[in-house]
Amino acid sequence: MRVRFTLPGDRIATIEEFEGLDGVYQHSDGMLRASRVGKVTYDLKQRYVRVNGLKSILLPKVGDHVIGFVHMLTSNSANIRIVYINELRSDARFDAIYIGRGKIKVQNMFRVGDMVRAKVASILNGYIHVTFRDSNLGVIYTRCNQCGGEVVRLNAEEVKCVECNAVSSRKLAEDYGNVNALRCS
Ligand SMILES: [Zn+2]
Repeated sequence: MRVRFTLPGDRIATIEEFEGLDGVYQHSDGMLRASRVGKVTYDLKQRYVRVNGLKSILLPKVGDHVIGFVHMLTSNSANIRIVYINELRSDARFDAIYIGRGKIKVQNMFRVGDMVRAKVASILNGYIHVTFRDSNLGVIYTRCNQCGGEVVRLNAEEVKCVECNAVSSRKLAEDYGNVNALRCS
């Protein structure tokens, strides 16, 4: 299940869909909205929704660098589980979304499991959208998608497996292979 976080005032559901419990209020527009920063939990059987508050939560902001791993891919989007915000570890399990707009399919830029560095482009109603436009953004660690072996960077868009020699496409960060890169620049 996708974990969504909320800021106060974010829309969560309509009053027809769910009953709001802790951390939720009913706005005059007929929407249930969050009354605090937290994570949304929907109980689909009982039709309840609540927002569990998060203590000392580190919220990503527009312009922040994030590091995370790709855990879902389609031809034009990637979901990234955030592990670091700037240089600070984040345990809140935020998901960032990347929507491809160029000619290159997102599934040719990444593979599931890749560690990537991205920049937060916008945050809209709890969804963190990221961009990979700069050369320091992209994959910072990946494995061969044929055999799981170690790969080396060939150029900005390709890696080669040292074990089976398979070449495959990635959108690589310029410092790919620098394992200190578990820090953002
Ligand atoms: Zn291989």
